[in-house]
Amino acid sequence: MVSNHLPVAIDSSGSDLRIITTSGGLITAINSFLRRNKSITDHFSHSYWVGVPECSPATWSKAESLLPAATFEYLPVFINKNIFEKYYDGFCNTAIWPLFHYFPSFAEFNEADFDNYLKANQSFLDVIINNARQDDIIWIHDYHLLPLAELIRREIPRITIGFFLHIPFPTFEMLRLMPHEWQQRIIKGMLGADLIGFQTIDYTSHFLESVRMFLGIDHEMNIIRYDDRLIKADVFPISIDFDRFNKAYDDPNGQRIKKMLKEKFSGMKVIFSVDRLDYTKGVKNRLDAYELFLSRHREFHEQVVFILVVVPSRHTLPKYAERKKIINELVGRINSQTGNVRWQPIVHQYTSLSFEEMVGFYVTCDVALITPLRDGMNLVAKEFVASRQDKKGVLILSELAGAARELTDALTINPNDTKELAEKISEAFSMNVEEQHRRIETMQARIKQYDIFTWADDFLAQLKNIKKKQQEFQVKFMDDVSRMTMLEHYRKARTRLFLLDYDGTLVNYFPSPLNARPGHALLELLGDIASQSQNDLFIISGRDRNILEKWFGQLPLNIIAEHGASLKLCGTEWRDLLIEKRDWKADIKKIMDSYVKRCANTSLEEKRFSILWHFRNANAQQAKLRASELIMELNQFGHNLGLQVILGNKIVEVKNKEISKEQTVRNILSKRQYDFILAAGDDVNDEEVFRVLAGNENAFTFKIGGDASFAKYNLHTPQMVLSTLHTLNHIMAYTK
Ligand code: UDP
Repeated sequence: MVSNHLPVAIDSSGSDLRIITTSGGLITAINSFLRRNKSITDHFSHSYWVGVPECSPATWSKAESLLPAATFEYLPVFINKNIFEKYYDGFCNTAIWPLFHYFPSFAEFNEADFDNYLKANQSFLDVIINNARQDDIIWIHDYHLLPLAELIRREIPRITIGFFLHIPFPTFEMLRLMPHEWQQRIIKGMLGADLIGFQTIDYTSHFLESVRMFLGIDHEMNIIRYDDRLIKADVFPISIDFDRFNKAYDDPNGQRIKKMLKEKFSGMKVIFSVDRLDYTKGVKNRLDAYELFLSRHREFHEQVVFILVVVPSRHTLPKYAERKKIINELVGRINSQTGNVRWQPIVHQYTSLSFEEMVGFYVTCDVALITPLRDGMNLVAKEFVASRQDKKGVLILSELAGAARELTDALTINPNDTKELAEKISEAFSMNVEEQHRRIETMQARIKQYDIFTWADDFLAQLKNIKKKQQEFQVKFMDDVSRMTMLEHYRKARTRLFLLDYDGTLVNYFPSPLNARPGHALLELLGDIASQSQNDLFIISGRDRNILEKWFGQLPLNIIAEHGASLKLCGTEWRDLLIEKRDWKADIKKIMDSYVKRCANTSLEEKRFSILWHFRNANAQQAKLRASELIMELNQFGHNLGLQVILGNKIVEVKNKEISKEQTVRNILSKRQYDFILAAGDDVNDEEVFRVLAGNENAFTFKIGGDASFAKYNLHTPQMVLSTLHTLNHIMAYTK
């Protein structure tokens, strides 16, 4: 486990060293997972927690014997104080934190902070490479360490790395406010991982979109192909140790605190909130709404108390010190203007709480008021719900917290809507016990079902999964033994199938697609192979049927046009496999036309079932950016039109959703049993074919070019495809 902070810090200010346990959502979550012995035995033979202890190496050595017993070993990262300040206070908390929480005006972009952010990540790397081996699993946490996965990958290329972002991942529009180099380092840094986890589906889509916009790389079902690896981005909403909170209800310490609070606030309604001091937590908005509630509902005067706990955090940063002042002033004003000698409407504490105190407050209050302006998840909301073994109490929750996606039975509010929030407090007070019971029960079921252990097990299982997929997806050139095996297999086979893509597979790409016509030698070779009675040969091309008919119509082979939209079986007429729909074309063409104007040397090609934007001859940099923009625009527009938008080899293609090479190949395979199959292709959609044939031991699949692929083998160029076909054709002649 790698996180910025270790779960302990050493206080050396007094005469004796003091071990402080650090708090916050991330630490609580990982600690809960690691506290369980089973977590370790199920997944690892040994585990480490890598992080900063915020003390000198000498102090750490002295403190080591005092550290609490743990299921893991501590691996401290010592970072020079100057670097740490610029990294942590600077880049992490004055650039990324505000930007990722949609406070762009609070963000400061300082070159020195970014340099030190990279330096600090390098210090983490040094500790990791001194301790990690190739078959280890590294799980990196949070925004402090966005570049780390890439740094590790460079040193230990085959290692397994998971990355989880605990805070929101914002829209592309936020990210693009950063200097270009930083955007690239962040996105490429994250892509060093094999699995990238987010709290919600929105954050995941924002990330995938940024990958497309910045790097021009699309994803397929959340899987990105980058740097010859498959990388998955997915949703893992972080959770809590449900049982620990639920059982704490009966804990004698918690009960004592509960009794004390009940006596103190006897007969009153209690609202409770606890957050770190942070402008994202919406404390000011909450107080404004509470003040409005008190002014509108005088019947609650002297009947209600709001226990507002703010936990000290990052107080050395100006924005945080300012927040503390705002909260203090507001609390003071409300208490003095609305309260009286008998009644203090707000009890405010600026302190951290122990577990027992937290649970004591959770189980005593009538309403938990959780109103962040943005929050990756918010564990306090889940903890409150889990603690209520009595199934009483009402959760008021901001719709801008990740937790709102799961806790749909909370009373959700928009934290900027003061009136709505004030009225929800009143609604919460009037909610009957049965309704409270029903809502808490439903939310508890969800938290119990996906608790912190399921979260971590799920993440680690998916990480192993994607690693396995990666091994299937690699660059593999054919060696002599495999070549001989293939030839032997071919010789013995009684039924043989050839599935051949055309452009980039049988011929090279040309600046103008019409110049890529087949030469005499190729036609002769294909004709020879196809005329053997054991052989079925299919050209499966994205081209339209007119040109394919012109080039191959006279040969005894099968032709599939537009990736499966039309088919001509040998000796028969063309027939459409889909009904041609034209209604979408005019609008889509208009959009694509504007990109032809905006990007020189690009062109449109209209086919019966699709429209393509070709950018092979354009300036690569500019075309990449325009392609990303076009895809985004088309996706928005074409969403409900039953269309798919594909980024292919220097093309963006829009076509009917039903068209797929996968289906086409499945249909061919269902018609006849083949003892030998050869499939070759160079483009993204050929991967569909390779995947269909992946488990088939009679199939020899070839990816043309040096990219990683689901094909069994790579061949460098179309010339090598032709040479392979020639060799097979020779065997055929020999065995005739
Ligand atoms: N917490 C704590 N002591 C405190 C206050 C909070 O241990 O005095 C814990 C709380 O139980 C929760 C975490 O800190 O597990 C806060 O997580 P959350 O996701 O709500 O917010 P974050 O601090 O991560 O922004």
